[in-house]
Amino acid sequence: MDKIFNYIDGQLVPSKSNKWIENVEPATGQTYSLIPDSDHEDVELAFSSAEEAFKEWSQKPVQERSDIMLKISSLIEENKAFLAEAESRDNGKPVGLAKTIDIPRAASNMKFFATGILHYASESHQLNDVAINYTLRKPIGVVGCISPWNLPLYLFTWKIAPALAAGNTVVAKPSEITPMTAFLFSEICIEAGLPKGVLNIVHGYGPKVGAPITEHKGIKAISFTGGTKTGEQIAKVAAPMFKKLSLELGGKNPNIIFDDCNFDKAVSTSVLSSFANQGQICLCGSRIFVQEKIYEKFKAEFVKKVQNLTIGDPKNKDTKIGALVSKDHIEKVQSYIELAKQEGGTILTGGKIVSIEGRCKKGYFLEPTVIEGLSYDCRTNQEEIFGPVVTLNTFQTEDEVLMYANSTPYGLSSTVWTENITKANRMSKALDAGIVWVNCWLVRDLRTPFGGVKNSGVGREGGFNAFNFFTEQTNVCISY
Ligand code: NDP
Repeated sequence: MDKIFNYIDGQLVPSKSNKWIENVEPATGQTYSLIPDSDHEDVELAFSSAEEAFKEWSQKPVQERSDIMLKISSLIEENKAFLAEAESRDNGKPVGLAKTIDIPRAASNMKFFATGILHYASESHQLNDVAINYTLRKPIGVVGCISPWNLPLYLFTWKIAPALAAGNTVVAKPSEITPMTAFLFSEICIEAGLPKGVLNIVHGYGPKVGAPITEHKGIKAISFTGGTKTGEQIAKVAAPMFKKLSLELGGKNPNIIFDDCNFDKAVSTSVLSSFANQGQICLCGSRIFVQEKIYEKFKAEFVKKVQNLTIGDPKNKDTKIGALVSKDHIEKVQSYIELAKQEGGTILTGGKIVSIEGRCKKGYFLEPTVIEGLSYDCRTNQEEIFGPVVTLNTFQTEDEVLMYANSTPYGLSSTVWTENITKANRMSKALDAGIVWVNCWLVRDLRTPFGGVKNSGVGREGGFNAFNFFTEQTNVCISY
């Protein structure tokens, strides 16, 4: 059985306890590797190593830090096919998706922040003839990065890249459900010559590894992506310690389709925004609101396209819908489909477990599911399901759909389909969302602020926002 190791002080090591957790392949339901079942002792070792490494890494010329990170980016690209297969196996996502989205984006994250830091300037403020102020930006020290299972290497690198580029050292925890590519990444870091201790990766369960990172007195900032409940727990611990906190949390994103939209584009993109990665992307639009006049036409076309999605072995290049990430998760999603029926919803398509012959017989496959006939404020339309389940809803006016869209506790992203630019601007301003896509979805420019409002999070990642988070500022005031 393959073993995954922690990456501490530049070495690949088991946990101190030498206990292991089984890592299951979602497409087969079988254990295929073992993960260190780490705890606070391993976090402490990782912290000590990171603390020591900070002395040199933070003083390294920025160009040298950048060069090492660019080497890491190149190695990810060189190993793209291998990493994509590993990601697909570990997560259940179609290998085609991992090859075109997850792994290229992980390489881009490293490259983007490695080069971005070379352009990161600080402000100066002149006070008449009295004084000049300049802002000194310093790395914080040892920081903690905690990431989820849905886009494993993509989100892992999205956090650690700006942290490292800004001169911090890192104790990181990937999700215990999808640890493989973080482990392969640690091998890449070694090959690229990243000095020991600069990045430490501790594998294991949230309460045993994530919590000690959050609680650690020496870890000065926490960058977390995951569920809103976990975010709440982290905030409760970290806030009284006055740690810097960046929280990227859940969503229940509206996808709003006006009757003056580009219909074909709205339908085909909505299929993607509903079901890419089995609907397990925080930015997926899980509540589709269609204006009354085109509702029936949209419904017919959308359902037809959804029924044509190929569900199958994530290894097959034609597969569009792979396995859900775990047994627990597929059960949670199924329970929401049952709830939707109880709440009066009609299943237009999907809703059932899919049995696939051959090696995937015991995998976690679920039909993409479309439900209609629910009220905007029922639980199915208010709670995050995070699976291949969307609801179709109808509306008449802009005000009405705005009320529906903003009715959840979340505010991560929204999508608006209309050819009327004035309406698009009006909606963008009125929607409770950190991100609004107009006539597109998941078009990402890494320079833009990324994050949510309300229960979807606190703070913004992306571009210089990330460097602002991972640095402390000192204003230096010099008298003339
Ligand atoms: P979780 O909140 O369950 O876990 C996220 C990470 O936190 C995992 O590494 C987890 O470890 C760890 N963790 C769990 N408990 C604690 C704790 N007490 N202290 C510190 N760390 C802990 O989220 P999921 O992995 O289930 O991811 C899905 C969620 O992530 C969805 O809600 C989704 O919307 C959100 N998400 C948000 C994004 C955004 O940008 N806003 C992007 C992607 C996902 P372990 O895996 O061992 O439990």
